[in-house]
Amino acid sequence: MSKLEIDWTRCDGHGLCAGLLPGDIALDEWGFPVLRGREITAGELPDARRAVLACPALALRLTKR
Ligand code: SF4
Repeated sequence: MSKLEIDWTRCDGHGLCAGLLPGDIALDEWGFPVLRGREITAGELPDARRAVLACPALALRLTKR
């Protein structure tokens, strides 16, 4: 089972991740990501990995539980 996590010491609120993964990440009124808390399914993993790599602040992580 995989989930997304955000390192808040790094996140700059670019909002890029929400654009790439709208089903998993929303944006708050200041443009910071809000994780929807869903489990990332095997079919969603490639898109989730792309979003992790695209984060300019290296703040988005995929974790296995
Ligand atoms: S792309 Fe990275 S820095 Fe930008 S809002 Fe998402 S987690 Fe934060």
